[in-house]
Amino acid sequence: MPIQIHKTDQLKPPPDQSKLGFGTIFSDHMFNMDYNPDEGWHNPRIEPYAPISMEPSTMVLHYGQAVFEGLKAYRAADSRIQLFRPRDNFKRMNRSCRMLCIPEFDESEALDALKKLISLENKWVPSAPETSLYIRPTIIAMDPFLGVRASFTYRFFIILSPVGAYYPEGFDPVKIWVSQDHVRAVRGGVGEAKTPGNYAASLLAGNKAHEKGYTQVLWLDGVKRKNIEEVGAMNIFFVIDDELITPALSGSILHGITRDSVLALARSWDMKVAERQISIDEVMSAHAAGRLQEIFGCGTAAVISPVGELKYGDQVIEVTDGKVGPLAQKFYQTITDIQYGRTADPMTWIEPVT
Ligand SMILES: *Cc1c(COP(=O)(O)O)cnc(C)c1O
Repeated sequence: MPIQIHKTDQLKPPPDQSKLGFGTIFSDHMFNMDYNPDEGWHNPRIEPYAPISMEPSTMVLHYGQAVFEGLKAYRAADSRIQLFRPRDNFKRMNRSCRMLCIPEFDESEALDALKKLISLENKWVPSAPETSLYIRPTIIAMDPFLGVRASFTYRFFIILSPVGAYYPEGFDPVKIWVSQDHVRAVRGGVGEAKTPGNYAASLLAGNKAHEKGYTQVLWLDGVKRKNIEEVGAMNIFFVIDDELITPALSGSILHGITRDSVLALARSWDMKVAERQISIDEVMSAHAAGRLQEIFGCGTAAVISPVGELKYGDQVIEVTDGKVGPLAQKFYQTITDIQYGRTADPMTWIEPVT
């Protein structure tokens, strides 16, 4: 499908790269495409970044039928722009669509549209160390209707936001709190989909963690409240007896692309790796026995987020003496080196834009 391009004549000044935060500044243009049952996905277009006009009855506002993705474009030293595994994001987005009864889109056309949008917005890809262009593809239900059913019409859009370093004060470990009262998702639900309701449902537990002085919630499974699932909106890894362990994709865990990248690297380094059930009790007793070496979260925003402290009920444990563990450091370095083109890309994860 040919993409129409309508350029704005009111270009915004580029942001101060030393002051970039997360998700507050948006580029000049966005990608839009619509769906209706007669035409399917149609009218793909790049146009000025602008509000979406909708009726107050629009279905997404009431029943949350929507999916989104999060990925980044990176500026390499020679000024090239590159994406990290973007095909996996669009593939996962279509998977989320199937779970939310949203019609699927053509993944290679979406990638093509994204590349065209980023090329047009070249100057919005920052070059300061550890900065990037955050990309947010989203699909929302657009019928003006209050009945509960799948919408007939949808809007697909992509917006771009230059973001600063995730660790402006250095690569620091976080403190995490195990929630025993709240769960993120259950098997049979939509925990494997990137859909807005999951994030709304996580806010209360997140606030409780913050009140207690913790950065993130460690989520246990929704049935037994014993097995570890995720941390915040990240997947989680443990290092016990030199083995790298992550919860198996049980049906309520997001299929993280960073998680998959960590696993692939670990296997390529001939590490001992396990995707299996791991309970909070196992982690606590491994710590008591001096066998727990590291815990870290992983996701696109942080890449790797080392855990320095964990609170479960009345027990508080210090992990890796509250410092960044060697494996967290090695995964962070290797993945960011690939993303910024500072090293070879043996897994062919990089998709060049320019
Ligand atoms: C997006 C997300 C992740 C991480 O996925 P990446 O593809 O690595 O960014 C993990 N858990 C949840 C709940 C998420 O929404």
